[in-house]
Amino acid sequence: LSERTQAPRGTFDVLPDEEPAREAIVREAQRILGSAGYRRIETPIFEATELFARSVGEATDIVRKEMYTFDDGGGRSVTLRPEGTAPVCRAYVEHGMHKLAQPVKLWYLGPFFRREAPQKGRYREFFQVGAEALGSDDPAVDAELILLLADLLDAIGASARLRLSSLGTPDTRAAYRERLTAYLREHEDELSPDVRERIDLNPLRAFDASDRGTQRVMAGAPRLFDVLNDDDREHFEAVTAMLDDADLRWELDPSLVRGLDYYTRTVFEFESPDLGAQSGVGGGGRYDGLVEQLGGPPTPGCGWAAGIERMLLAAAAQPTPVDGVDLFVAFAKPHYRREAMRIANEVRQAGLHAQLELAGRSLKGQLKQADRIGARYVAILGDEGAQLKDMQSGEQHEVEVGALPAAVLRQRPGG
Ligand code: ATP
Ligand code: MG
Repeated sequence: LSERTQAPRGTFDVLPDEEPAREAIVREAQRILGSAGYRRIETPIFEATELFARSVGEATDIVRKEMYTFDDGGGRSVTLRPEGTAPVCRAYVEHGMHKLAQPVKLWYLGPFFRREAPQKGRYREFFQVGAEALGSDDPAVDAELILLLADLLDAIGASARLRLSSLGTPDTRAAYRERLTAYLREHEDELSPDVRERIDLNPLRAFDASDRGTQRVMAGAPRLFDVLNDDDREHFEAVTAMLDDADLRWELDPSLVRGLDYYTRTVFEFESPDLGAQSGVGGGGRYDGLVEQLGGPPTPGCGWAAGIERMLLAAAAQPTPVDGVDLFVAFAKPHYRREAMRIANEVRQAGLHAQLELAGRSLKGQLKQADRIGARYVAILGDEGAQLKDMQSGEQHEVEVGALPAAVLRQRPGG
């Protein structure tokens, strides 16, 4: 017996039974984002490695150890995209979108890749739906984006808690970073080795650490939120006022740091109690320096991404509509197969769902199959012409083969 190849670790197949629930989420996202004027953008699955190194940040987990990076065979280093904001910003710059009316509101959907330790809700290939608004620093942009994600989670029946904070501007952050670094140095021996190693590189990340010792130290650490300048504080208050107007519940969490370097001002995360350890369903924030950092004009931006698999775990099971089969074309002898094919094609072209026997079953087996797939009607082709059987009433009558499509159409509700 030869060894079977399996799907790579941390990846999954989406089987047909699982598609409807995913499609329902995607449909809701499309509807909700579309209703606010967000338009879909698609960017490549891989990008130049430097795009992520420069934007996500050299000191982040993603860039340090989670990227699928390889030589493209021509001496260029490329990386499977670990996130969607940097690619969208790259496209914004590349296509001169700053010349359009601002903000440019975009959404995306697709696979993303991070080499993480696989667990429930954490995969190496996962799907995200995301939204980005580029070209305005108006707090209404932040509030609108947050409300849209809240709407999406609500629409799919996921209950989630919203945590919110502000990281201020790069200047505030730089000054704060020095204070925090000094504080961490004072408590160096109580920190986990991983955090200690990155005190200078990425001190804010210590807030995210999972070990007790570090968490104890961080509970007493100076907080960025407390040293925001007046503009940033005002911006934050304007955002939260609009969330309050919409009756959206939120909690201030000054320890909220996101795993990417490009955030400024607003950061937020929706957390579901149904997810266990991988509690983040979606999150995002403002990134006012990113476009410029990628070679574009100074352009503020804000956005979020939410994981499809996490949303599925957090969502209430929705009734999935079954795709009704209008007609199954059965035949008594193989001789009628071509006729069956012709009829099935014709009925499909008339806009109906038709299937025909494809596995050489006996007539009895074919009727069983028709029942199994829930066919409303069965056409039985035989030497005495065609019979049309109503699978609901069991009634059966002769029809002219040429009149079959019309007969099925006529029998349909509204037909
Ligand atoms: P986490 O805290 O769970 O590691 P994150 O902060 O790395 O999440 P983001 O980079 O903000 O997540 O990505 C946005 C969303 O994408 C997350 O809220 C989550 O729903 C989803 N996501 C991120 N990483 C994964 C993964 N490895 N597998 C499945 N979904 C993921
Ligand atoms: Mg992560």
